[in-house]
Amino acid sequence: MTLSTHCPVCNSTDHAQVFLLSGVPVICNQLWPDAQAARDAPAGDVDLVACRNCAFIWNRSFDPARMEYAPGYENALHYSPKFQTFAEGLAADLVERFDLNGRDVIEIGCGDGHMLDLMSRNGAATATGFDPSMAGKETPYTARDGVTIEPEYFGADQLDRPFDAILCRHVLEHLDTPLSLMQNIRRAIGARDVPIYFEVPNAGWMLDAISMWDVIYEHVGYWTAPAITTLFRRSGFEPVSVSAGYGDQFLMVEARPTAPQPDFTATGTQDVLASANAFGKAANAELDKWRERLSRLDGKTVIWGAGSKGITFANALGAAAAPLAALVDLNTRKHGLFAPGVALPVVAPDALKDIAPTLILISNALYQAEIAEDARALGLTPEFAVVAG
Ligand SMILES: [Zn+2]
Repeated sequence: MTLSTHCPVCNSTDHAQVFLLSGVPVICNQLWPDAQAARDAPAGDVDLVACRNCAFIWNRSFDPARMEYAPGYENALHYSPKFQTFAEGLAADLVERFDLNGRDVIEIGCGDGHMLDLMSRNGAATATGFDPSMAGKETPYTARDGVTIEPEYFGADQLDRPFDAILCRHVLEHLDTPLSLMQNIRRAIGARDVPIYFEVPNAGWMLDAISMWDVIYEHVGYWTAPAITTLFRRSGFEPVSVSAGYGDQFLMVEARPTAPQPDFTATGTQDVLASANAFGKAANAELDKWRERLSRLDGKTVIWGAGSKGITFANALGAAAAPLAALVDLNTRKHGLFAPGVALPVVAPDALKDIAPTLILISNALYQAEIAEDARALGLTPEFAVVAG
């Protein structure tokens, strides 16, 4: 069974093509010290397909070995104030509903331990996380008594201690064998009745919003409610609730152990397949529109915003990226570095005086007014366009 031919959830070989991004950086957020290193950065194809049986969407060209060899891989979420508030509310809610005061919590893929710390603050007696990416790293979040990170992969045999809940957030979308993790957890729970909480990016939202720059190499899987329900049932968990949160951008599943149903397939797959098909068409039309516009451009263009969206967009353009001169960013730590693949320099807004772009592409519509004002202050009169999705 391989990713290129078989669905990692239900093993079906019947899948529909959704969207293809060729030669995109394996780690889109990582910047490089010089243009050559940026050009040589690990790259791969994102060839999204949707399973016609269970509606799971995955990158059939994903190669887990490429992720292992890419330096500087960070699984940590961006800790925006909005995300912090969400995590704090979630921790308090989980402790109350799962009755975890004075009890023991396990987190798989805990990152720097931010959620472990929050569970402890909300009354958990112990909070133990597993995350191999934390080997040799310091974190402020293990300072409280009872908070521990084991810097290794989670395995069923590690849970010979008592525990009362298992959390796993933003891990499943990185796994090429999600079913084996779930089966592993199910084995660890055994005959106990222990609740689990899982959270992943909500692919249903991504498809409906045509949020095409959420398609990144780091994510092998894109989860919708039917696919994740099928995964849970097949591995021996009964979802108590499957809901969307964080502005619908996260999919949250609470479940209890039950007997595995290896042949279970959830309803609702046809709707996901229709959304995936519409997403692919709209995303391709959007890319074609940009390629056409840039091929007609007289002069240079820059992308404002050197985050994953701007970098993925630049790489997705292929040969049409030729008029791109730079990525502009306010973050001084990014200046002088180069974006992977396209090898564009990241510059401060001041550098626009020399570049004199005729078009400024904006990767986040929220900042459009601010950016236009900054450009005018530099004496520039370019066109502006927002990169949608
Ligand atoms: Zn499937």
